[in-house]
Amino acid sequence: ATLERLDDGAVESFVAGIHGEVLRPSDAGYEEARSLWNGTVDKHPALIVRCAGTADVVDAVSFAREQDLPLAVRGGGHNVAGTATCDGGVVVDLSAMTGVFVDRDTRRVRVQGGATIGDVDRETQLHGLAVPLGVVSETGVAGLTLGGGVGHLRREHGLSLDNLTGVEVVTADGEVRTANADANPDLFWAVRGGGGNFGVVTSFEYRLHEVGPEVPVLFVWHPMADAARALRAFRDYAAHAPPESSVVAFAATVPELDEFPEASWGSLALAFLGCYDGPADVADAEFRPIREAADPVADLSESMAYTDLQTLLDEDYPDGRNYYWKSTYVDELTDEVLELVARSAERMPSPLSTVDLWHLGGAIDDVPPDATAYPHRGRPFMLTFEANWEDDADTEANVEWARSGVERVRSTGVASGAYGNFPGDGTETGRLLYGDNYDRLVAVKRRYDPANLFHRNQNVDPTG
Ligand code: FAD
Repeated sequence: ATLERLDDGAVESFVAGIHGEVLRPSDAGYEEARSLWNGTVDKHPALIVRCAGTADVVDAVSFAREQDLPLAVRGGGHNVAGTATCDGGVVVDLSAMTGVFVDRDTRRVRVQGGATIGDVDRETQLHGLAVPLGVVSETGVAGLTLGGGVGHLRREHGLSLDNLTGVEVVTADGEVRTANADANPDLFWAVRGGGGNFGVVTSFEYRLHEVGPEVPVLFVWHPMADAARALRAFRDYAAHAPPESSVVAFAATVPELDEFPEASWGSLALAFLGCYDGPADVADAEFRPIREAADPVADLSESMAYTDLQTLLDEDYPDGRNYYWKSTYVDELTDEVLELVARSAERMPSPLSTVDLWHLGGAIDDVPPDATAYPHRGRPFMLTFEANWEDDADTEANVEWARSGVERVRSTGVASGAYGNFPGDGTETGRLLYGDNYDRLVAVKRRYDPANLFHRNQNVDPTG
């Protein structure tokens, strides 16, 4: 490891000052601590610093900078490209910083940088409140928010980052900065879509919304033979859908679960998952055309606790499985695009994979494209190829399936750009990811991280 060139004294005095835990390769627990959600990632950091608080983060950032060591930042460890770790360097691991502090009077919540979606939902739902986050509860709020954040409330309340009111950030120089509309507004602009490029966010403050405790949920699976009809019903629905309603259509293999008839297990299906944040009878009228577009394999639509909706998909994404997810934005659901969704599903090398068509728009588009660093406003759909597979020998086929799927969609002429939180292997950056906001991001990067200390991310190169 790169650490070996350092004198023991420097390392020992750094470690002695940390109030959290520091794990080295010879320590018990190191193997578990170095592993990420994505099993394809296999890196060996020299030091994993499990920070107890902001002061530990300051020390770890300063140590890496002063000793010229590679640095990675770990929130929930769920980035698909595995950027939360590095070989031979320092991991600023925030997994022990999971505090969530609700202020009912101001309708704000302060969340530490290592919290998961589940940590936040648990505390906020205690008060009938919620932050719009993602759809799998084990995901870290940090990476999710810094890159965007699309979830079940996206069309009603926007992206996760649209609900941020401020952050505390440790920048590359080791300073603790507050960034909000008034303090360091350029930094606040940049962290809302610019990912982990600008420092370690030790806490996020979000606006809260009244949600639940129950919400009407659409969850219907149609046979793939009826995919065209079902997708056309989705297209018609999307053309008029109110913002309270957010639906994702996905092609998948019917799982071997009791909720599905045994005869359907292993067959391809076109499913719809979404919620309507409002009265059940209105939800019913909204969702009926999708539910009745074909004779469903299973219709699991019902009202459920918001926290149950938020954990509904958890078991589909276990730690350590192999994953490669890639996305692009779609402006129009042409027949060609709908056909591509179904055909791509038929080519899936793994029965665990899915093709996901997210309906965006609504509140996401109420924010101008240059108001935050996230540029992809006014793009009504996002198509994501989720390659999920067990056997390492199948890696190439699965990665190729997702890559070529995205290329095919982009070649239709109605799709372009990429979402930083579904980043493939992380090599797509620049204007593809950041659009017309890229130049301003480079300028802010130069100001706060000119040496690119924070480079394990969807990198904004300070040299442009
Ligand atoms: P990590 O791997 O811990 O971090 C990723 C990167 O973010 C780091 O490399 C670093 O650059 C940066 N980072 C992390 N923490 C900090 C911090 N505190 N300060 C500064 N930089 C930091 N996305 C959606 O929009 N909607 C979804 O519904 C959704 N569902 C998902 C479901 C699953 C199962 C998974 C694995 C991902 C999902 N995603 C979703 C994508 C998710 O937003 C990204 O994977 C995101 O990077 C996860 O954040 P994390 O903190 O867990 O990641």
